[in-house]
Amino acid sequence: MALTVLLASPRSFCAGVERAIAVVEQLLQQRGGPIYVRKQIVHNTHVVADLEARGAVFVEELNSVPDGATVVFSAHGVSPAVRANAVDRGLETIDATCPLVTKVHAEARRFAARGDTVVLIGHAGHEEIEGTLGEAVDQTVLVQSVDDVAELTVADSQRVSYLTQTTLAADETTEIITALRARFPALRGPASDDICYATTNRQYALQAIADESDLVLVVGSSNSSNSLRLVELARRHGIPSYLIDDPGDIRSEWLEGVEVVGVTAGASAPPRLVDAVIAALAELHPVKVIEREITRENIRFTLPLVVRRP
Ligand code: SF4
Repeated sequence: MALTVLLASPRSFCAGVERAIAVVEQLLQQRGGPIYVRKQIVHNTHVVADLEARGAVFVEELNSVPDGATVVFSAHGVSPAVRANAVDRGLETIDATCPLVTKVHAEARRFAARGDTVVLIGHAGHEEIEGTLGEAVDQTVLVQSVDDVAELTVADSQRVSYLTQTTLAADETTEIITALRARFPALRGPASDDICYATTNRQYALQAIADESDLVLVVGSSNSSNSLRLVELARRHGIPSYLIDDPGDIRSEWLEGVEVVGVTAGASAPPRLVDAVIAALAELHPVKVIEREITRENIRFTLPLVVRRP
């Protein structure tokens, strides 16, 4: 049976991920390995394996970085405590934090400085949340669901602000903000949405194809927040959906009776993996590929100065 592949666009790498990977690539080119990176530079197993093969060394914490070495902070950002620890250790640090995550850190500092309780909407344990929480740890509370809002206690209900993780589901986050505003009418938030353009665009692009699909495949790794949100979004549309790291994860039984496969990729998944997925589908069935582009992204972030002018 012939398969129609509906390809969501935008999909795959965002500007923050491209910048973070380029930081490590440029350092490897300019200085050679090893280049230490705290945490995965972006949440994708293939990106990490590729950079590892070229001399990057990924560590969980700074105590695994030798004295005097250079360490790159990943796209998800770090708390001030991690930065201070690097200074104490005498490490050279190069910051690959996405500028859109840096914006959220600045908001956390500003809101806390005016005396607010900062309600941070996001997923416990995610590196981005750990970093943002660290900006004002005594004044920040994490909220993960509408249910959490009911249980919140704050010092002063007139002084409450919210911030969000950059990679959340737009619709679910709106529900949480609405619940917060109902409890704290004086609630204040960021001037512009913290859920980043790339996350939002990938969700809207998937929404544009989901209802026509019998199956949705999302290319991305299991620790990629924005990729997981895409799988959940497709399932909320009632469409079976699976997260795949690469074509090797595709199971033939998923395709039984399927005529239209929606394909997308999280912001940390390389475009070549999407091509590989389509090639793998084409080995199983004749495929016709139709791309649905809802918007074109032209955002680029400049590299840190030390990388641009070594
Ligand atoms: S998903 Fe958004 S916040 Fe995360 S790296 Fe990409 S552009 Fe930056």
